[in-house]
Amino acid sequence: MHVLVLGGGVIGVTTAYELLKDGHEVTLVEREPDVALGTSFANAGMVAPGHAFAWASPRAPKVLLRSLWRNDQALLFRFHTDPAFWRWCIRFLGECTAERARINTQRKHRLCVYSQAVLGDVVADTGVAFDALPSGLLYFHRTAGTFERGVRNMKILRDLGQAQQILTRDEIATLDPALAPMKDKIAGGIYSSTDSSGDCAMFTRALAGVVRARGGRVLTGTTITRLESDGSQITGVQTSAGRLQADAYVLAAGIWSPKLLAGLDKWLPVYPVKGYSLTLPIGHNHLAPAIGAVDEDNLIAYARMGDRLRVTATADFAGYNASHKPSDFAVMLGKIQDVLPGGADYTNPGYWAGLRPMTPEGTPVMGKGRQRNLYFNTGHGHVGWTMSCGAARITRDLIAGRTPAIPLEGMTLQ
Ligand SMILES: Cc1cc2nc3c(=O)[nH]c(=O)nc-3n(C[C@H](O)[C@H](O)[C@H](O)COP(=O)(O)OP(=O)(O)OC[C@H]3O[C@@H](n4cnc5c(N)ncnc54)[C@H](O)[C@@H]3O)c2cc1C
Repeated sequence: MHVLVLGGGVIGVTTAYELLKDGHEVTLVEREPDVALGTSFANAGMVAPGHAFAWASPRAPKVLLRSLWRNDQALLFRFHTDPAFWRWCIRFLGECTAERARINTQRKHRLCVYSQAVLGDVVADTGVAFDALPSGLLYFHRTAGTFERGVRNMKILRDLGQAQQILTRDEIATLDPALAPMKDKIAGGIYSSTDSSGDCAMFTRALAGVVRARGGRVLTGTTITRLESDGSQITGVQTSAGRLQADAYVLAAGIWSPKLLAGLDKWLPVYPVKGYSLTLPIGHNHLAPAIGAVDEDNLIAYARMGDRLRVTATADFAGYNASHKPSDFAVMLGKIQDVLPGGADYTNPGYWAGLRPMTPEGTPVMGKGRQRNLYFNTGHGHVGWTMSCGAARITRDLIAGRTPAIPLEGMTLQ
């Protein structure tokens, strides 16, 4: 079967790889000059089933409301006129009960754990390098109160079998000496030894190279302008390079997926949530972190990627606007220097902002809708890198008519 994959982020490229492995003819279409130049470009790199919480929780409305008068919050709510935004918000608020948060977290965690195993298969099969750090991830707290709450919240993942160790500040300083200078500011932390980190864009580019080498077509610099349908199936795709046709299509266009689907199916509940990212050079004289971590009170995440330190923060409901200026990064630059005073060269930051393709539930949309040959693989939100390989294999199984290895409950348009 010939399959056209629409979008060349980590989701599209992993999907193309899985489909190729299953014996299909594959063409991937990406409008940027290379793959992984969208949201997959400079994320925090965490492969983190240990942090697979649903954002919609009983506390979320309060945090969002507070951000209306305090702009130093990690979650920033802004008013928009876009009806899709309000529709998304109403559905998000409906997910903010303890019961829905528990169900959504369980579903996210299940996919993340499966995906982590599939990532292992992909690396074993291809040997792709991506500055991986398989040394676990640390989630630390600064006050006794937030630490206690963090341990309580983490229990849901512990009950699902997630490896967790509760650590004191001294144990944290031993685990990662880079945190020793600030250990007195830490109340304690939770260490998830099976989590890891790595450069998502580096992985995506390398895997696209494997796809090409194995006979797949990767059409970069090609913009999809319209999906054509006869009402029951996609009949072709109009692009800047002409019309393309295939037997099946996979929609993997991240935040742009709803726009491409408009008019062909029901509303795809994927909306952008902006995040900011700094990339800082690490030299011989720096005390760089040995493992990635999240400063839970400041909601900043960091991970070492080879000779770079990646730092990310903020969830900003800024619509489709991914623009940024150096002053947007001042607060997070201050916070990371507080955590890792000598961790990297803070005078030379690379700035970036990306738009997470979030669903209100936090689970992605997979499976099919009204068009019988169009498969969705989109809406992976803040853990798309973690979920990518598993979601790609599930999509491959669905196209082959096989039952996926994990249940898809809550992860389809139905
Ligand atoms: C600040 C930040 C930190 C994050 N940290 C983590 C983390 O630590 N761990 C984790 O697991 N996840 C993390 N994420 C989430 C993760 O980055 C995303 O979920 C993931 O990259 C989404 O991948 P994607 O392929 O769906 O989207 P994208 O990477 O955006 O890919 C979609 C592609 O489709 C292309 N496209 C769109 N429209 C068209 C068109 N009309 N024609 C042709 N091509 C088109 C785009 O150009 C784009 O390349 C983070 C995200 C952000 C923003």
